[in-house]
Amino acid sequence: MSPARIAVIGTGTIGAQTLWQLARHGADVTGYELFSPGHSRGAAGGETRLFRHIDAEHLEYLPLTGRSDLLWRELEKESGRTLRNLTGALALGSTASPATRIALESAAVLGSRAEVLGREEAQRRFPAFRLHEDEVAILDKGAGIIFPERSVRTAADAALARGARILRECRVTAVDQVGDQVDVVTGEGRERYDRVIVAAGAWTATLLPDIAPYLATRRLLSSWYLPKAGHTLDGMLPYLRTEPDYSYGLPTADGLAMKLGVGFRDHLPVESPDTAPLRISDEDLAPVRAVARDLFPTLDDYPMRAQAYFEAYTHSRIEFLREHPGMPAVLVCAGFSGKGFKNAPVFGEMAARAVLGLPPASEGAAFVLDAAHPSR
Ligand SMILES: Cc1cc2nc3c(=O)[nH]c(=O)nc-3n(C[C@H](O)[C@H](O)[C@H](O)COP(=O)(O)OP(=O)(O)OC[C@H]3O[C@@H](n4cnc5c(N)ncnc54)[C@H](O)[C@@H]3O)c2cc1C
Repeated sequence: MSPARIAVIGTGTIGAQTLWQLARHGADVTGYELFSPGHSRGAAGGETRLFRHIDAEHLEYLPLTGRSDLLWRELEKESGRTLRNLTGALALGSTASPATRIALESAAVLGSRAEVLGREEAQRRFPAFRLHEDEVAILDKGAGIIFPERSVRTAADAALARGARILRECRVTAVDQVGDQVDVVTGEGRERYDRVIVAAGAWTATLLPDIAPYLATRRLLSSWYLPKAGHTLDGMLPYLRTEPDYSYGLPTADGLAMKLGVGFRDHLPVESPDTAPLRISDEDLAPVRAVARDLFPTLDDYPMRAQAYFEAYTHSRIEFLREHPGMPAVLVCAGFSGKGFKNAPVFGEMAARAVLGLPPASEGAAFVLDAAHPSR
């Protein structure tokens, strides 16, 4: 039997998808949101996220991304809103690197949906990129851009349309299991639920201190670059490069600028988004400006805009989707490790099905649900 009342704490990327999935099952569900669905003060800002099938870490993600692809389409159909622009994307990397080996194995699994290009061929077809001598490019044909703020808002709206309740501008200050049930505490008092899902992103360690050892909370920077005089962004695709330095980029929806970001090594460790510095220094931008100079001959390397976002990483980089160690009626969904957006629908579905007592609907779910999580 499904639990009578369910709360979802955080209606950001994962929480909004979870709420939508629960509402689709007809569950009595309430979302709590510190700001409002679709805000950009957590992990889901900056107008674009990369959707890609090619994975450079674990082949087990391929069926999960395939399921997400389907769920993104279902959400677009149900809402009547366009949430993605699947232009194709490039995965770049050195032939010598283990990450590129996994990416090439992903391409083999995808078959005709991916195309492996040697350096010369890649340079000819995508002259906006300047590849290193030992690099290959994989064209991921079903990849592209997701619109994050619109997607979060759309999933939340779809949940509301199916009867969910969302309490906006409402901070949850504690989650306490009382017997078999759980109290959600806010400034307004306590409300009791049968099951609670915490999807609080970079705020998870603050709300649930027992989970803090499993997570590393980071400030991530996005910065946007205009083309040099006489150039345009024509032919520029979203990309991910794993070696020698991790970076990724996405053209803006209007095609006027390229947004760039770098990897974990260059993200500032923070306690919480509530107290993290928002000022972005020249030193902060040095690694990403080096990427702009190295990889993009036609981009101006001085950003026209830079913005900070917040994300929680696990130490293994595999998502933390499991019961709270001291509160079995609380499911924690955290640590999406810089790559949770594309698979948000499937993670939302996994969380919803777990609390409803249903088996996962996607092949590959056990890889995430059963992952061991080292604490540090
Ligand atoms: C700059 C950047 C670039 C990225 N690029 C990509 C990409 O290209 N592709 C990709 O797949 N992934 C990408 N990611 C990762 C992806 O965006 C994240 O993994 C994902 O958004 C995390 O979702 P979340 O639900 O955990 O966090 P969030 O989306 O931040 O949601 C957490 C929500 O909880 C709310 N909340 C927190 N505490 C409370 C509380 N106490 N009470 C009530 N509400 C609360 C917050 O307000 C927020 O709305 C990127 C991340 C960043 C930061």
